[in-house]
Amino acid sequence: MSSALTIALAKGRILDETLPLLARAGIEPLDDLSSSRKLVFSTNDPNINLVLIRSSDVPTYVQYGAADLGIAGKDVLAEHGGEGLYERVDLKIAPCKMMTAGFAERPLPRTRLKVATKYPEITRRFFLEQGRQVELIKLYGSMELAPVVGLADIIVDLVQTGNTLKANGLTPLETIMDISSRLIVNRAALKMKNNAVRALVERIETAVE
Ligand code: AMP
Repeated sequence: MSSALTIALAKGRILDETLPLLARAGIEPLDDLSSSRKLVFSTNDPNINLVLIRSSDVPTYVQYGAADLGIAGKDVLAEHGGEGLYERVDLKIAPCKMMTAGFAERPLPRTRLKVATKYPEITRRFFLEQGRQVELIKLYGSMELAPVVGLADIIVDLVQTGNTLKANGLTPLETIMDISSRLIVNRAALKMKNNAVRALVERIETAVE
């Protein structure tokens, strides 16, 4: 079997920090990822290819072995559930917190709390553990708007500086989990391409340190 490896990378915010990390591990794409419209990229290492996809799709590509490895935020990994993959290295990039947020001065309703989020699984698990009944409202973006227009009582979202919440009059309430990007590996690839995968994981691990 070929020992060539494919790494799935997330488009957007994480990519700017991922590329210098990969460069420190000796992996450099032959094209400029941020300006190209391509989705598959060769690198200076003929045995390593990159695919560039939406961040929430990275765990799915790795789960099914379409990519051997991937780099994704802990937020999308926790939402995905982690089936078929191992989380190997905390890359310590794009750190932030998953939090609940709402209006500090507005008391929460005694009836079922309405929670708007892009992360229904994480949110469901968090409130289930606390024994609190909530109504989940799935959104795809701009969560901060939901409490402002009365769509939800609170939101669950990523908070880095807190500026986005503040700009919309919201306050961070409870921390659900600490988030950073992780290197993930397809379970079957770890068995079938063990040497190549382990060597690559070690290179990236060293680059983090
Ligand atoms: P901030 O205003 O710095 O607290 O950033 C919050 C906004 O950026 C929200 O819209 C978040 O969804 C988004 N955000 C913050 N950190 C991350 C991250 N590590 N990955 C993706 N989105 C993030």
